[in-house]
Amino acid sequence: MSSSTDWKRAFSDYPGPYERLVRAADTEIGAFLDFDPSRRTNAAPGSVSGGDDPLADLPFAVKDNIAVRDFQLSCGSKILGDHVAPYDATVISRLTAAGMVPVGKTNLDEFGMGSSTDNSALGQTHNPWDLTRVPGGSSGGSAAAVAAGLVPIALGSDTGGSVRQPAAFCGVYGLKPTYGMLSRYGLVAYASSLETIGIIGADPATIEETLHSAAGMDERDQTSIASPRGVRVHSAGTSETSLPARAAFLAGDLDLDEPTRAGYQRFRSAVEELGVATEEVELSTTEVAVSAYYTIATAEASANLARFNGVRYGNRPIYAENPEELVRRTRSEGFGPEVLMRILLGTYVLRSGFQEQYYQRAQKIRTAVRNELDALFEHYELLILPVFPTVAFPHGDAGLSPFQQKLADRFTTLANLAALPALSIPAGVYGGLPVGIQAMGPARSELQLLEFARRLATKLPVEHPPEYQESICDRILAGEGA
Ligand code: GLN
Repeated sequence: MSSSTDWKRAFSDYPGPYERLVRAADTEIGAFLDFDPSRRTNAAPGSVSGGDDPLADLPFAVKDNIAVRDFQLSCGSKILGDHVAPYDATVISRLTAAGMVPVGKTNLDEFGMGSSTDNSALGQTHNPWDLTRVPGGSSGGSAAAVAAGLVPIALGSDTGGSVRQPAAFCGVYGLKPTYGMLSRYGLVAYASSLETIGIIGADPATIEETLHSAAGMDERDQTSIASPRGVRVHSAGTSETSLPARAAFLAGDLDLDEPTRAGYQRFRSAVEELGVATEEVELSTTEVAVSAYYTIATAEASANLARFNGVRYGNRPIYAENPEELVRRTRSEGFGPEVLMRILLGTYVLRSGFQEQYYQRAQKIRTAVRNELDALFEHYELLILPVFPTVAFPHGDAGLSPFQQKLADRFTTLANLAALPALSIPAGVYGGLPVGIQAMGPARSELQLLEFARRLATKLPVEHPPEYQESICDRILAGEGA
């Protein structure tokens, strides 16, 4: 596997080959909506620290709902289409100050709503393991770009699983940090109380470095919190930090497909081989969590997306008879069907007289989820559970219906409802498709989750897609593309 030093060399010493090879590979995958590695390389003289910073000159990709100055900010929607961001999100200014270079914007389900990236209005992204299948979503472009070796690291956003699920479908790591750990300033809001920016990467160490540079309080996001607890292991060079003594494995009727069941099993054996004691637990809130999630998420979405009315934000029709028609046509022509459906659902659950039946009930479930997980972390350092009940499904009708996709968010939405960190870890390849399993921990335990993943990789090595065995970095350093 290429180290971040290899990546930095391949990218900065060979910018021409890097750009050519990524463009060629991405004609098959469709990960990027806007790709231009040189746009920001020299854009801010003095901002690149060079030298010793482990992230200096490292290329990275960004989901197209996070603002990167001079790049498009489409949210995968026609309503924003050709909008270009005039400023950097806080995470972007922090990473570029550490010398990292944003090379492009990646495809997503419109406004982050979906699990396949097929809800994008701007094109399809294919899974590098099997081009007939979805990369997962909503951060599908970011996960596909990392899995195909186009970048070592990519940012996504996770409101109900959108970093972890595509990471699992593409066989890479995906970290959803504690709520507030990464500033949301510059992230286009879908459901503000649930979402975090997250990091998708080819290895835990680079995710850790990226998290370290991007995390921390931000006066522009009043929900932001302090950095992770504990000592950074990789940079300190002390690899023998302690592993958790006991991990809880979610048990009960999980209704997993065959490959996912096999991956979950193998994951557990690998954890035991590390010397961690495992015990099975059941959670009473798993089944209701997903309903609470969709009630809260759509309610918040209906409010957050009200700003796209053609007046302040949003592409509007060339001519409209009156202001009502302007707003109506902006929204009905600009939003895709999934987004329209969710705005309607969110408006419905917030309707006067219905709040107690839906929204307030969902908030009570949310509290119950939080209490149940807090109680669990009194006894265990880790909770292990599947990310999604299936492996990557085919595009279109042969795949899961929109309703089945929503039910399948039952494992990922728990961490969002409880504001806790969770990491999707590759757990092997079954019938040609990767399975990912998530490790969840108490608030601000990101470093422990990443260290656990790093140790686990010695027992359960990460595999790469057959057609993309070598990253762009490997290929350049082997002399290709010169
Ligand atoms: N699949 C979930 C949804 O459709 C998750 C989305 C997300 O995390 N942005 O809402």
